[in-house]
Amino acid sequence: MPRTAEILIPLALDSAYSYAVPEGLSLAPGDVVQIPLGPRETVGVVWSVEAGRSGSNLRPVTGRIEAPSLSSSLRELVDWLARYTLAPKGSALAMALRLPDEGARVETVRVGVRSSGKPPARPTSARSKVLEVAADGTMRGKSALAKEAGVSLSVVDGLIDDGALEAVALAPEPVALPPDSDHPRVPLSEAQAEAAKDLIAKLNPPSSVGEGAPPTILLEGVTGSGKTEVYFEAVADCVRRGRQSLILMPEIALTAQFLDRFADRFGVRPATWHSGIGAKRRERLRAGVAAGEVDVVVGARSALFLPFAKLGLIVVDEEHEAAYKQEDGVHYHARDMAVVRGRLEGCGVVLASATPSIETRVNAEQGRYRHIVLPERFGGRRLPQIEAIDMRLDKPERGTFLAPGLVASVREAVAAGEQALLFLNRRGYAPLTLCRACGHRYQCKQCSTWLVEHRFRRALVCHQCGYAERRPESCSACGTFDNLTPCGPGVERIAEEVAGLFPDARVIVLSSDFPGGAERLRAELQTVAEGGCDIVIGTQLVAKGHNFPHLTLVGVLDADIGLTSGDPRAAERTFQLLQQVTGRAGRGDKPGRALIQTFQPEHPVIAALLSGDAERFYAEEIEARLEAGLPPFGRLAALIVSANDRETAEAHGQALARAAEPPAGIMVLGPAEAPLALIRGRYRFRLLVKTARAIDLQTYLRDWLKRAPKARGNVRVAIDVDPQSFL
Ligand code: ADP
Ligand code: ZN
Repeated sequence: MPRTAEILIPLALDSAYSYAVPEGLSLAPGDVVQIPLGPRETVGVVWSVEAGRSGSNLRPVTGRIEAPSLSSSLRELVDWLARYTLAPKGSALAMALRLPDEGARVETVRVGVRSSGKPPARPTSARSKVLEVAADGTMRGKSALAKEAGVSLSVVDGLIDDGALEAVALAPEPVALPPDSDHPRVPLSEAQAEAAKDLIAKLNPPSSVGEGAPPTILLEGVTGSGKTEVYFEAVADCVRRGRQSLILMPEIALTAQFLDRFADRFGVRPATWHSGIGAKRRERLRAGVAAGEVDVVVGARSALFLPFAKLGLIVVDEEHEAAYKQEDGVHYHARDMAVVRGRLEGCGVVLASATPSIETRVNAEQGRYRHIVLPERFGGRRLPQIEAIDMRLDKPERGTFLAPGLVASVREAVAAGEQALLFLNRRGYAPLTLCRACGHRYQCKQCSTWLVEHRFRRALVCHQCGYAERRPESCSACGTFDNLTPCGPGVERIAEEVAGLFPDARVIVLSSDFPGGAERLRAELQTVAEGGCDIVIGTQLVAKGHNFPHLTLVGVLDADIGLTSGDPRAAERTFQLLQQVTGRAGRGDKPGRALIQTFQPEHPVIAALLSGDAERFYAEEIEARLEAGLPPFGRLAALIVSANDRETAEAHGQALARAAEPPAGIMVLGPAEAPLALIRGRYRFRLLVKTARAIDLQTYLRDWLKRAPKARGNVRVAIDVDPQSFL
């Protein structure tokens, strides 16, 4: 009986292709196969196999590839992802496939040597030393043996050639050691124990009462309440049940500190998955996950597409983080897809946050998600007291950025041997450079952005595309010598001010472009945690997830930065960020304090922070979203049109708008020039689709794009459902 396989290829193609299944090859949906595509061979995944289509002239499948099969729930996730984001199905598949490099496939075999009992042909003193060590019969690696005997590797090799030592293949090292759910641990506080019990009970609904699948649960607790310890208990329970757990984190929060906390609880560090992992390790981890041998994976958002064999729990830590949204390729939100995967796998999902997203908060309030709250900090520690510094009254001196009130408080903290954090979400020295003679402003040549001065690198840098030029000595427009002036502060400029104010203090500046890369950055974070510095100056990198026990004072240098953007999530984002930053203070034994420099202390977001009344913020923001029909009470999608010249981009945007024909309940706005009108030499226009919640946004978008003129030449249209960024 001839058979046909529908095979999905991990390229930007929307449908599967038909191939003939050769006689004798057994194929099942999910199998990874090699197939001919045009003149070359490529890789695909079997989506279905049917009998029939005899006599067709389909090309045959070349063969199966040794790679973990995609389970039916993972294939459903791919279908779901493509349907929801409107990405080509093949692009969605690519997320789940992530094939290793060719080189990585070669299995490296670890070899051990031991004595064979035969005497060497040519005994020398070096050789005797080796054989003496090997005489105990233990298997050792070659270099370990050479080292122990104090000889060179060639002596060991010679003995192997001689037959006096035999080489034996060792079992490969396991990709991750099994976590011990009953590892001795610090006791939980009463509130934590209560929450953990509640969490585990909710994640294991009694099937007898027919309560159905495990739910999605919002685990909400103020910063420092010990949410991590609580969800670790759910992970431990999952391990005991013999199922796998996935803990998703924003990539930057995947720190040694977190891995050590995991080790404190489970006796071993977990397997990790992020962009920095080598290809070889990646493939072994995928295989281990697919074989059900890896119990817990801690990973960045792409870990969501790993081929788990028996997934029992997904935790999304810091669920409100914008970093969970992928902003290129397939525009997906890992938190939302985690909920989808949980449903498809029949496993529970825990969303943890001190400052949940409005979407998740509403889902919890409306009963779609369950809700567990940890209202207090662990160990009776109090939340920091937050005060505003009104910049209209307490003015910094000309050319400086720290208000006298803040300077005095930092001085106090440092004198008391405590740590202070100065937070400014701007990398570099100054966000704008201009010529005092002619007013010329330095702009990126291929983006509509100002070049940011980085004094340490002596360069002007574009934060959008990475373009950098040497900071010139004279103005490139009018030629005036030595008359360029920095406008506004970045963290480097604050560091300069702080060095002048506190010449004896130990200061560390931390931002994502920290020289020396991720390793050094981790080391610096560790230094801060251990109290090895007095003043930390940092961007949002230090705001999140870290535990700095010596930190008692947080100064926010410009609380108003985020409030001025036209982004519908500006208020939410600012509230979350400032709540997180101020929450760094007072996590150790001493109480914390936060000072917020602002020109508008009466702004609702600032007022909510000052009063410590998060509920008030959520109530007002949810009300505002409801009134404006914004998510989660309405749906949004953005179409971003880009082209090599402005006219073409705008013209295509207008052609799309003309074809929109929105029915009642759907609004199409634009095209409007994007706030970032030019990126890497591409001009950008945006259209925004706004619908009521009940409307099937994806079907409308699909029909519209079918009617609309196709993007030709260098025109691109990116579709962003549930946009997080409006730039
Ligand atoms: P959150 O994630 O809610 O901000 P964490 O889980 O990071 O809070 O915990 C805050 C701090 O309290 C951490 O330093 C953690 O080690 C400590 N902590 C939490 N629970 C316990 C516990 N049961 N025993 C000892 N220390 C704890
Ligand atoms: Zn640029």
